[in-house]
Amino acid sequence: MRLVVVGAAGRMGRMLIKAIHETPGCVLSAAVERPGSGVVGQDAGVLAGLPACGIDVTDEALPAFVEAEGVLDFTTPDSTVSFAALAAQARIAHIVGTTGLEPQHLAKLEAAARHAAIIRSGNMSLGVNLLAGLVRKVAATLGTDWDIEIVEMHHRMKVDAPSGTAVMLGEAAAEGRAVDLADARVAVRDGHTGARQPGTVGFAALRGGTVVGDHKVIFAGTGERLELSHIAEDRSLFAQGAVKAALWGRGRKPGLYSMADVLGLDSL
Ligand code: NAD
Repeated sequence: MRLVVVGAAGRMGRMLIKAIHETPGCVLSAAVERPGSGVVGQDAGVLAGLPACGIDVTDEALPAFVEAEGVLDFTTPDSTVSFAALAAQARIAHIVGTTGLEPQHLAKLEAAARHAAIIRSGNMSLGVNLLAGLVRKVAATLGTDWDIEIVEMHHRMKVDAPSGTAVMLGEAAAEGRAVDLADARVAVRDGHTGARQPGTVGFAALRGGTVVGDHKVIFAGTGERLELSHIAEDRSLFAQGAVKAALWGRGRKPGLYSMADVLGLDSL
């Protein structure tokens, strides 16, 4: 499968180039960075710490998309929206790992998904997607006298909060309780907040060092507490998940899909 990596010089971009290199049946067809980036013209293999592969980083996305079967995108929300339009034009699978998307970005992805398959997940790991299923079940089982709090920690360079994964886990909890996360979400507490409102889902975001991604969902009842957690030790697992999603999405009919679809976890 011929794959393009956009955001090729990013932390995830380099991992994606490596994951494609290591996956039989996949080949890097282009590597794209922002216009003006210092890496444009560099060999993409060398950029990812591999031997030279003969593909130079380009800043022209559309010609790259036209020659490919899928695009792996871990960039920024605005860039992802533009790439979705181009992937729809080229009719290729678009794998979106970018987090921090707001409703206006999601609406544009939905429009693009009428023309091509988009697989989007705030976390591409098997463990986190399993965890989301477990959280949905536990939230559906326990009443609102059990408070739900989600704690996450990431490296000091992360620019959005709460993390895409924390939001995904919050959505799973809200789904389990048959409520809308937008109505239940409490993402900031500071100063005199008053007592906790029953039925809310609270978030706490810690930032520091080089932490790849820690998430804990706490169900706090009266006199007992249930905690479900996931620790990502290496970001290569997100890249491997993205390549797996691309292979799954190859030639699939247009639509918006999730990693749970790819992993067959819908029954959870
Ligand atoms: P990063 O800042 O290291 O990399 C982003 C790269 O995208 C940069 O090199 C930047 O120049 C490039 N870029 C931005 N706009 C572009 C454009 N229009 N054209 C070409 N290149 C462009 O960030 P990162 O740590 O690699 O994370 C990227 C995103 O992926 C974040 O939203 C992060 O939260 C998310 N992420 C998701 C998962 C997951 O499993 N879904 C895992 C890790 C990170």
